[in-house]
Amino acid sequence: MRILIQRAAVVARPEEGVIPAADVVVEGKHFAGVFGPGEAQGEFDRVIEGEGKLLVPGFVNAHTHLAMTLFRGFAEDLTLRDWLEKKIWPAERKLTGEVVYWFSLLGLVEMIRTGTTAFADMYFFMEEVGRAVEEAGLRALLSYGIIAPTPDRIDPELKKAEAFAREWNGAADGRIRCALSPHAPYTCGPEVWREAVALAKELRVPIHTHLAETKREVDEHRERHGKSPVQWLEELGVFAVPVLAAHCVWVDEKDIDILAAHNVSVAHCPSSNLKLASGIAPAWAMVRGGVNLAIGTDGAASNNTLDMVREMRLAAILAKARAEDPRAMPAPEALSSATQRGAQALGWGKDLGAIAEGYVADCVLFDLGAVHFVPGHDPLADLVYTACGADVEMVMVGGEILMEGRELRTLDEEEVVARCRDLARKFR
Ligand SMILES: [Zn+2]
Repeated sequence: MRILIQRAAVVARPEEGVIPAADVVVEGKHFAGVFGPGEAQGEFDRVIEGEGKLLVPGFVNAHTHLAMTLFRGFAEDLTLRDWLEKKIWPAERKLTGEVVYWFSLLGLVEMIRTGTTAFADMYFFMEEVGRAVEEAGLRALLSYGIIAPTPDRIDPELKKAEAFAREWNGAADGRIRCALSPHAPYTCGPEVWREAVALAKELRVPIHTHLAETKREVDEHRERHGKSPVQWLEELGVFAVPVLAAHCVWVDEKDIDILAAHNVSVAHCPSSNLKLASGIAPAWAMVRGGVNLAIGTDGAASNNTLDMVREMRLAAILAKARAEDPRAMPAPEALSSATQRGAQALGWGKDLGAIAEGYVADCVLFDLGAVHFVPGHDPLADLVYTACGADVEMVMVGGEILMEGRELRTLDEEEVVARCRDLARKFR
């Protein structure tokens, strides 16, 4: 299959700005090149008109819990502890594979509609999430959340996570990869971390976890262990394997140095951190300190969307307020965190995140026809500060079109919505 996307404005790499008009050729799963308008040679099976549109690398949601779309609007305006202990955890005990499957599909519909092509997900019933991803056509790094506060939970939790990783790593023609996910330093003791690291080395998979999300958690950790959770994980040898750490709201300079030195990727989740009043992560200080800063929405229960375009905007403007400097997190940096650095965080850094010859063809076409894109002085700034997910018109993953003209190609949206409305009744 040879596809030509013609005369589109193109962001080939965020740091290079916008090419005002170019022809992009996709051959099979990869980009075959970016050419001047009218310069792409040969026959094409498909031609996509790109005039008045902006082509960008696909968005990477670096931290989410996909099936938590079930809990959108379910537990609002509560403290994190009440939210988890009184509402979310009791409801999660009623989860079934069927519920996780359908609400994963719901999340995938939303992701495609808002331009996400890859994501990192940690939850339960992950076989069902894998099945949904396989059908939807996205790319994902999937893992079972391991919660083992007491020794009797360690073995069953690790075994489940291991079995899943062994079975699903490389599935869906390589679109699915697996991670291991001790949930957080406060829900998993040192033995869990040591075993997970040994297993990650053996399976050659990364670790995806939550780290330094709330002040209380970090204060308690310092009281009990005499060091920050970041230092504690470093000393346990966790950073000897690739690590994707969500949140990192309460990290100091020393922590940032440690994260950068070990190439730890951080999934910055600004909406969730604001909504649960966890705080504002020092995102720009982390970028400046050399940390690979990706962006995630977290689950839809604490966001309440999976729209990476909104999340990128919030990350950009919030970083300025936190740094007390409007020059902090300029638009190309925010876009890089939402695309390239996300790909890197998921372990796909060499293959994804640019529209260039040889890269895997994951890309998103924005329709610039909406009134909020007028007059269009700076399309890259418009993309970061003005656009919303609903402006996405076409989504491609590995050369396969998942949505075109805002019509989904891989999923039956009506059926997914109907099933989810029905299944949600049991959780009222
Ligand atoms: Zn999370």
